Amino acid sequence: MLKIGLAALTLITASQSFAQLQNDACVAIESAGTGQWWQGEAAIMGTEIRVELWHENEILACDAIADVMAEMRRIDAAMSPYIKSSLLSQLNSKGAKEFVPVGDELFGLINRSQGYSILTGGAFDVTYASAGRYYDYREGKKPDSDTLREAVEAINYRHLELDHRNHAIRFHHDHVYVDLGGIAKGHAVDQSIKILRGLGIEQAMVSAGGDSRIIGDRLGEPWVVGVKDPRRANAQVVVLPLMDASVSTSGDYERFFEQDGVRYHHIIDPKSGDSARSVSSVTIVGAETTATDALSTSVFVMGVDKGIELIDHLIGIDAIVVDGSGHVHMSEGLMPLAEPKMAGVL
Ligand code: AMP
Ligand code: MG
Repeated sequence: MLKIGLAALTLITASQSFAQLQNDACVAIESAGTGQWWQGEAAIMGTEIRVELWHENEILACDAIADVMAEMRRIDAAMSPYIKSSLLSQLNSKGAKEFVPVGDELFGLINRSQGYSILTGGAFDVTYASAGRYYDYREGKKPDSDTLREAVEAINYRHLELDHRNHAIRFHHDHVYVDLGGIAKGHAVDQSIKILRGLGIEQAMVSAGGDSRIIGDRLGEPWVVGVKDPRRANAQVVVLPLMDASVSTSGDYERFFEQDGVRYHHIIDPKSGDSARSVSSVTIVGAETTATDALSTSVFVMGVDKGIELIDHLIGIDAIVVDGSGHVHMSEGLMPLAEPKMAGVL
């Protein structure tokens, strides 16, 4: 079993308010051997982006961090449904009428999303937003029952027709709306790691909200990633020692409001257009963040039994699920690491 290093950091539990983020600042946080650990933070894609990397040279380190932030902004500009000029917005506005060319990258990610829809029996579905777009978690708004009933009919990944030759997509239902919030951050993290590797960087961590990827170790030890307790601030249900790995967490505490004792949060069951409520958090560990991101959202919708059964069939992927009563469930690959236990339940 891997040893947990004292000097290692906690990724998932670390969070700052956006106001505290020093956009694009690059700071030395720790000396190590002949170099230092450098850190940059920024608010992009509606979330906190953090980069930490080891380098001997300040200018090269800070340039690398700036390159990652630029990549995150590039992906946001192409894939945000909130940016009117984005390729995704063009698809959403015209896709019901005609095939819309979306370019290699967006086409590839939507194609991959379709693969996760098939793998998860429709739990992962980027057309969830046909109903999801009517919720506003900050304002505490949800669709009325007529709007919801109509919107749910537009949720179905099969409503998307993909033209592989021209990298164009069209919708087979008038009210389809696509949102890649369940996979785009993971993609952006994978892209960022590719950039850092291309610059010769061998020890780094990139995180975008709940999606993180680590290359190499930290001060000769694995990174330690804490899985947040969904119902107790600053508490963790499990800590995972990780090297060269990706980890994503989906939780019902990230974006939500409560009405009449019911929690409305941002992970939507495509069958109902309502929030999925059988579990309160899912953490997935694997090699690539695109996969861990999509699967954390998927398993959240699938629930404990179906979700863990799926993960146990996937090589190199593990899951930690906190159910609605606070019980911690783990996939087979993690069982030797820790005994499942209870999270705090309010
Ligand atoms: P995550 O925090 O990675 O689980 O992603 C949650 C985000 O995924 C939400 O904010 C939505 O943008 C998106 N999402 C919600 N429900 C689904 C779903 N059933 N399939 C795909 N994406 C979803
Ligand atoms: Mg996810």
